[in-house]
Amino acid sequence: MRYLSFALIFALPFTGFAQHSKIDKRVDSVLKLMTLEEKIGQLNQYTGDRDATGPITTSPNKLKDIRDGKLGSMLNIRGAKETREVQQVAMQSRMKIPLLFGLDVIHGFRVTFPIPLAEAASWDLTAIENSARVAARETAAAGVHWTFAPMVDIARDPRWGRVMEGAGEDTYLGSKIAFARVKGFQGKGLGNLDAVMACAKHFAAYGAAVAGRDYNTVDMSEHSLWETYLPPFKAAVDAGAATFMNAFNTLNGIPATANSHLQRDILKGQWKYPGFVVSDWGSIGEMVDHGYAEDKSQAAELAIKAGSDMDMESRSYLPNLAKLVQAKKVPVSLIDDAVRRILRKKFELGLFDDPYRFSNEARQEKELNTAENRQAALSMAEKSIVLLKNEKQILPLSKELKKIAVIGPLAKSEKDMQGFWSISWQNDQLVSLFQGLKNKVGDGTELRYAKGCEIADSSTTGFAEAIRVAKQADVIIMAVGETLDMSGEAKSRAHIRIPGVQEELIKAVQEVGKPVVVLVMAGRPLIFNWTADNVPAIMYTWWLGSEAGNAMANVLFGDYNPSGKLPMTFARDEGQIPIYYNALSTGRLAKNDTDTRYRSAYLDMPNIPKFAFGHGLSFTTFDYSGLMLSKSEIRLNEKIDLSFILKNTGKYAGEEVVQLYLQDKFASVARPVKELKDFKKIMLKPGESKTVTFTIDREKLSFYDQQLKWGTEPGDFKLMIGTASNNIQLEKDFKLIN
Ligand code: BGC
Repeated sequence: MRYLSFALIFALPFTGFAQHSKIDKRVDSVLKLMTLEEKIGQLNQYTGDRDATGPITTSPNKLKDIRDGKLGSMLNIRGAKETREVQQVAMQSRMKIPLLFGLDVIHGFRVTFPIPLAEAASWDLTAIENSARVAARETAAAGVHWTFAPMVDIARDPRWGRVMEGAGEDTYLGSKIAFARVKGFQGKGLGNLDAVMACAKHFAAYGAAVAGRDYNTVDMSEHSLWETYLPPFKAAVDAGAATFMNAFNTLNGIPATANSHLQRDILKGQWKYPGFVVSDWGSIGEMVDHGYAEDKSQAAELAIKAGSDMDMESRSYLPNLAKLVQAKKVPVSLIDDAVRRILRKKFELGLFDDPYRFSNEARQEKELNTAENRQAALSMAEKSIVLLKNEKQILPLSKELKKIAVIGPLAKSEKDMQGFWSISWQNDQLVSLFQGLKNKVGDGTELRYAKGCEIADSSTTGFAEAIRVAKQADVIIMAVGETLDMSGEAKSRAHIRIPGVQEELIKAVQEVGKPVVVLVMAGRPLIFNWTADNVPAIMYTWWLGSEAGNAMANVLFGDYNPSGKLPMTFARDEGQIPIYYNALSTGRLAKNDTDTRYRSAYLDMPNIPKFAFGHGLSFTTFDYSGLMLSKSEIRLNEKIDLSFILKNTGKYAGEEVVQLYLQDKFASVARPVKELKDFKKIMLKPGESKTVTFTIDREKLSFYDQQLKWGTEPGDFKLMIGTASNNIQLEKDFKLIN
């Protein structure tokens, strides 16, 4: 009996560990056989080559480097056949070490899902994980091992075009989503044929670029870094993210790529991160332009010392590292550590057992663009839509309507529905709004279309036709916003109004006097004050992916009741940016919009945003009541259970995202006026009520103190339950005592 339990102890809890040490042994056995040049080759990554329209190829020079063992990974090669062909070349190298194939699979591979910011608006972690799962299945079936996602950068500046790629402004929501996305990409773990390596990026604080200009300087306190920007990265580590990518920006004067504090002390030190770090595209070489390195050789030295394991496309490591080792500037142990980290992943993926295991045409044929994947994209798109305004109950529309006008430059656009960072396919089937409406309405309903204007043009010549079409309709649906290349990498905009004359078009059409619904399709929170103040029904539909039109039609006609909530604050003017809900208080907080005398206020505009973080309506209404706390005073290691009743008081079944906010009223470091600490998405039938519960534990009350220690302090707290950050329904105070 004793014998058996001893055996069990070894067999059960240590299997993971045994697996690890087995892989480590295999890694060492390979490393022992490698020359220094071959080791450095593993740290080198090139892109596939592509002209504007043609297929992706690999140039003869790159193929030669692969054959010579000078490459560890390629990005932008995709397809079972294409990856196999390049892998075959790697198998001709002396060491026959398989290549890793990486690709930016940001929101779907063959089937495009809503942009990440849109998905974040669903506040539905299961759906978000599933979206990454579907993307991973498709990606892995096309021979690709690695996605450069998720981007987990917190962003509070909508001028920054890359807000579309993240989860918005909030650290708590962003951390939950980071975790879900990594889990989704990596599924049951590397080695499974439907899992790809995730890559948490961009480490770190890339989202805080000064003035929202992409790649720009970041300067912030260590406290803000830990409090606001690092937690989603830690969540990615906890979820097992196989890789990290560093960032283009400097952080407090030091490029993230050469930032030992970030990569060695925090990531690989304090967090004991076992994966590897890839540089951002060319970011090692760009340290010369930053004025941080004299030349690419010094850049290579600084980057490897700071813990950047793989050089993406800057060609700094390959020509310089061997010389740096010979000159005793870089110890070979640093190279070995980086190579080990990379080889470990190649073993975990099973590539040493079969380098072609992901490159299987039959599987690719079977997995891509299935009805099931499209259904998942449709469902995710429905969940991502945010109903900003619905006065006079204009929505949902009746299916009995006889004449509908569909107006606006995005109404028939298919391409823009894909959004930035989507993968282009020759025979893509993207559903425009117009097509989605056509799929939905019966023969008895007539749809009339007018473009009205271009997206970014100043001509109003199309207005007359739009007005003519509007006059004949019972209801008018308008589609305005951004083209897919207006938000994304290097797509910062100083003015984030709805571009061109689109708002003038809305005005002109609204004057016709018929009910108007505006759909805003964009990659960032835009500013559209006239529309927000005057149009009765507005839906924010972002860029929703392959099934965009069908999802919008389902919501417009009430076949899906919208449940999305804004993951970012919508400013009323660029002058308010950066703007976010969880700000600190000031000694001079304005009491109201006219209270500006010596107040922390603007003389020319209110402080409050146009639409607040967490805002989003439903076709039904919800009532919050009966907040109860198990205790109103707790000790440090105790918990509070709280409950309240949520009732659907309207006519439609619907989901509500209930949001729990906390305020620590005074502490050794000033705390935000409110912070999201939990949320739940609850489905209720008309008339139904449910008791909703949350637990407030020590973790929820903790923060980083002046010494950057995570912990709690006794004091007074306020808890708030809301339907949005600016719409608190229930609140109570409680005390934490020693
Ligand atoms: C972006 C990364 C991306 C990489 C590879 C860079 O320009 O910043 O997010 O993964 O390119 O395409």
